[in-house]
Amino acid sequence: MCKNFIKNWTLDEAKEFFASLGEKPYRARQLFNWLYEINVDSFDEMTNFSKELRARLREEFSLSALSVEERAISRDGTEKYLFRTHDDHFIESVLIKRDGSDEGRLTICISSQVGCAMGCRFCSTARIGFKRNLETAEILDQICQVRKISGIKNDNIVFMGMGEPFLNYDNVMRAAAIMNYSFGFHISVRRITISTCGLLEGIERYIDEKQPYNLAISLNDTIPARRARIMPVEKKNSIEQIAHLLQKKFPSSRNRVTLEYVMRADNIAQEDAIRVKKLFRHGNVKINLIKLNAGAHGFEPPCEEDITLFQKELEIMNVPITRRKSFGEDIDAACGQLSGRRYNPHIHISHKQSPAHSDK
Ligand code: SAH
Repeated sequence: MCKNFIKNWTLDEAKEFFASLGEKPYRARQLFNWLYEINVDSFDEMTNFSKELRARLREEFSLSALSVEERAISRDGTEKYLFRTHDDHFIESVLIKRDGSDEGRLTICISSQVGCAMGCRFCSTARIGFKRNLETAEILDQICQVRKISGIKNDNIVFMGMGEPFLNYDNVMRAAAIMNYSFGFHISVRRITISTCGLLEGIERYIDEKQPYNLAISLNDTIPARRARIMPVEKKNSIEQIAHLLQKKFPSSRNRVTLEYVMRADNIAQEDAIRVKKLFRHGNVKINLIKLNAGAHGFEPPCEEDITLFQKELEIMNVPITRRKSFGEDIDAACGQLSGRRYNPHIHISHKQSPAHSDK
């Protein structure tokens, strides 16, 4: 039987547990230090805990929430990890060593769910369908395991792997808070980015709760009907409503919201740039352009000349625009390519299943 995962705990919960054993509250900080900063493999390594305490923890809790199934290394150094959960599901995480930024960040892209329910037509994860939410420990253990195996201490986290973070809101926020603990990973809140396909309820809750992390929204299109065909989420969470919500509620004092725009051959005309500008002209936003990655059958990536024109047109908006470089494409580790491998390994979506007609 699977024991409880110790990495589900927040600091307060750990303190409560230690108090129930008559242990001092500082034990909780020591525990987080062992779990995340030192990243131990066994309770026995927690040498400042008594033998009895270690035995008690070992009896009641599992230290690791995931086991590593596969590790693939790309030509560009990007590493993809396939993990197996205790109930035999599969998730993936990606370590990106050069993210193209001047700061040379070391980023881990993590998953928040097994599969995804959102059904975006250009994303491989959507083909798995939704299996279940990840527990907090399963979110955090992706980082522990990637760090352990790669020997690299990342300083940046993006929730851009498998799943929709705002449909696993509580566990994602809890994991993000634990990542920020100074006696643990100690990753700055400004280096944790949560990316949503645009769920209004989640975005509003996030703003109302004043969550300190970066927020990214996958815009990907400007015409509602066309966006709805590739991202069914648009039907109940329209880009107009998202733009309005940001304008109304997202403070100008905060780090700008990133609008992610996956560029296809058919969504980067001059009018598209004009519509983005019109929609978000009052928003505290920046734009991140991503070229559609291979594997999105039925969709064409754009050519470089069109991208340049689109970017030029957007520049008039006078907000920061960055281009996301694609890493790990040769090992299917780039954006939208995470498919959990073990699910439907031979799946192919027919080219004939054009996005324009596949909706109903
Ligand atoms: N569900 C969340 C996070 C996971 S997707 C979201 O939608 O934001 C992470 C990013 O990868 C999103 O911006 C998404 O639009 C992008 N993406 C999905 N499929 C892609 C593809 N084939 N090529 C490039 N980017 C893709």
